[in-house]
Amino acid sequence: MVNSHSEIVVNNRSYKWPDRPLVVICLDGSEPDYMALAMEQGFMPYLKKTLPQGTSTIANCVIPGFTNPNNMSIVTGTPPKVHGICGNYFYDKENDAEVMMNDPKFLCADTIFAEFAKAGAKIAVVTAKDKLRLMLGSGLQVEAGKIICISAEKADLATQQDNGIDRLLDFVGSPLPDVYSGELSEFVFAAGIKIVDKYRPDLTYLSTSDYVQHKFAPGTPAANQFYAMIDRYLAQLDAAGVTIALTADHGMNAKTDAQGNPDIIFLQTLLDNWFGENKTRVILPITDPYVVHHGALGSFATIYVEDAAILDDVLSRISTLEGVMVTLPREQGCQRFGLMESRMGDILVVSTKHKVLGTSPDRHNLSALKEPLRSHGGISEQRVPFMLNRSTTGLKEEGQLRNFDIFDAALNHVS
Ligand SMILES: [Zn+2]
Repeated sequence: MVNSHSEIVVNNRSYKWPDRPLVVICLDGSEPDYMALAMEQGFMPYLKKTLPQGTSTIANCVIPGFTNPNNMSIVTGTPPKVHGICGNYFYDKENDAEVMMNDPKFLCADTIFAEFAKAGAKIAVVTAKDKLRLMLGSGLQVEAGKIICISAEKADLATQQDNGIDRLLDFVGSPLPDVYSGELSEFVFAAGIKIVDKYRPDLTYLSTSDYVQHKFAPGTPAANQFYAMIDRYLAQLDAAGVTIALTADHGMNAKTDAQGNPDIIFLQTLLDNWFGENKTRVILPITDPYVVHHGALGSFATIYVEDAAILDDVLSRISTLEGVMVTLPREQGCQRFGLMESRMGDILVVSTKHKVLGTSPDRHNLSALKEPLRSHGGISEQRVPFMLNRSTTGLKEEGQLRNFDIFDAALNHVS
């Protein structure tokens, strides 16, 4: 039942059937300067040649600017208040448990893939870290060679039954990459081009990891090499005749003081000193199973306040801290950032460009940090690239455009 001429409606947005295979790329942590400087310095010749005839603008990501909320926004075309994934991590108040938001049971919206698959589309989803695979694949019935859903991290374990493809390492021709490496993302592209060549999916989604961006600033040799690698794969994808649409889940900034040390506001320590222990609970939605490169430190936090009588006092004290950019009560904060109130604390906090928010010193292991801290999550990391290898008409303007408009741009606005 190939429904190739009708429009597919997903979460109240409608999408045209692709006129050629579409590859949407989420380049994790890709602050716009990474590509701007790599192009300027001659490391991305394909992109530099292509963008003048294609589309290149800036979009805003979802706040909190973390991986799971943004990937799920991109693949559902909606803000977190609709799909429910407001962090990598949250406090399940009903069950009094702090849990990872990796499970599809937390997802409240359909994905664009699932709805296109129902209409007969061939789909391939390739993610770097396995933590995202199940949520990205939510609602997809895997089918050998037709509906493929894999991660680079667990590529050695892929089976026809669970992933729609097996013997993946042989197929890609690469060894299993380390989860903490740039090769993890390279594997995503290497698998992507092989799958596009062999299976020609209607929609392909490639989602990388931000390991390189957490370590290296835009324009540095290691960053440029990484983007040169990406450029070679983009050229191959283009040569395969696909539409390429590229955005990012969030940007990235140095989060250090003048001495190069992590510049951290330990919110739980401060709150415990002011109000006593167990009066408040600070949740850092950046927390995920892979904390080596950021120590669970980002620029967004949410605070649960047990005693309503102290709420105003907590708000006013936090808002006057140096390095805090925004402090809002739940309702206002969720309205401003498009978040689901039931999954946020009583107070939302965003720090300034070079500061991060922590709980208490004993709960952040920074021993594995070898380079000065770089991280994300706040308004200062909201700008992300938004690029297509084809020209578009009628896109929203910069400032209005969101990274989760990327499928809309690629399916509805290509001219
Ligand atoms: Zn990310």
